[in-house]
Amino acid sequence: MANKSCIFCTIIKDPNNLIFEDVNTAAFMDINPVANGHILVIPKKHFANFIETPPKLACEVTMIVHKIANLLIKTIPEIKGFNILTNNGSEAFQEVFHYHVHIIPKYIREKGFLINRTKENVTIDNIINLKKILKSQLM
Ligand code: AMP
Ligand code: ZN
Repeated sequence: MANKSCIFCTIIKDPNNLIFEDVNTAAFMDINPVANGHILVIPKKHFANFIETPPKLACEVTMIVHKIANLLIKTIPEIKGFNILTNNGSEAFQEVFHYHVHIIPKYIREKGFLINRTKENVTIDNIINLKKILKSQLM
């Protein structure tokens, strides 16, 4: 269940740390916010990342993300948008290895969470071949 060395497993033990909890999920303020209203939503049960989390539990987390993002819009009218994201794996900048979704309000395009898209080399053949493989597995 809980992972003794996991900071998020420790945080959810004390309801004072939380803004929301139900049977399977919890939410709390990010300690180092990128923008005002930066919130993390997690499953209470410890899973290292999105890929490790059972899909139905990941859906429950998403429902709470939706609920809290809507509440933030009502609470802070200056919010113009959100970046809602999860980092999966250290290569993707994950630092805490308990699945969490970031809700990061966006107020001004140039400030807060910024996406730096440097493109890898992907050929048209890459796209066509992968499309064929994935489609054959999914449909
Ligand atoms: P990630 O890179 O996606 O793993 O992000 C981890 C997030 O957890 C960062 O935004 C941190 O600021 C946040 N964080 C780390 N420790 C705590 C803590 N004790 N309480 C709240 N948020 C935390
Ligand atoms: Zn944990």
